[in-house]
Amino acid sequence: MRAIIFDFFGTLTDPSAELLRKGAFQATADALGVDRDRFWTAMTTSFPERIVGAYGSTRDTLRTIARQCGTDPGDERLDRAVAVHHAGAEKVRTPRNGALAVLDHLRTHNYRLGLISDCSSELCEAWSGTAYAPRIDAPVFSWREGHRKPDPRLYATAAARLGVTPGECWFVGDGGSREHDGALRVGMRPVLVTNAAYPGVGGLRTDPDTYLPDHRIDEIDDLIRLLGSSHDNG
Ligand SMILES: [Mg+2]
Repeated sequence: MRAIIFDFFGTLTDPSAELLRKGAFQATADALGVDRDRFWTAMTTSFPERIVGAYGSTRDTLRTIARQCGTDPGDERLDRAVAVHHAGAEKVRTPRNGALAVLDHLRTHNYRLGLISDCSSELCEAWSGTAYAPRIDAPVFSWREGHRKPDPRLYATAAARLGVTPGECWFVGDGGSREHDGALRVGMRPVLVTNAAYPGVGGLRTDPDTYLPDHRIDEIDDLIRLLGSSHDNG
């Protein structure tokens, strides 16, 4: 196995940071001058379309959502709201304890590292400035590709950009978006991060996997032990 492809939210990010999303959306609603509850509903119901790029950039998204909520923000107000929204998104993607160190360790052991994230515009627009970016060789974003997990094209794209076959890849995720099922179907080896130390956040996953991988770890650090015991990573 030469490559490892990670899910992003709840896998590389602090799972409990997801609990900050509602407050972050409220701050954006306030900046846009729209009702918080209407904004939350409009954002959550548009999620499947936003993550495949149908709403465009963060600026375009917020303008469209504000109009759906009955407000047409001017350019200045929209600019402020975009900045507030990006600040909120940054809090929700705080790295989990140990995650960056694990990525560094894997890189020094010559693994190629990829990412497949079902995400909206915020992560793509901010990616290059994050601590994750220099550690991930091939990030694949649903927003940019126009497909969401478990679409096999996302997995094929990640493997191709890493210069490996899907059969040479581990796929590591917390089991949202039926991602493990998708990984298995293309021939990757799925690993579930159980997030057992974060009770209550599992229910925040979208479209959770029904397939349970044979390989399970509670914390991202345990991945190093799992890879070491697999005896085929030469
Ligand atoms: Mg996840």
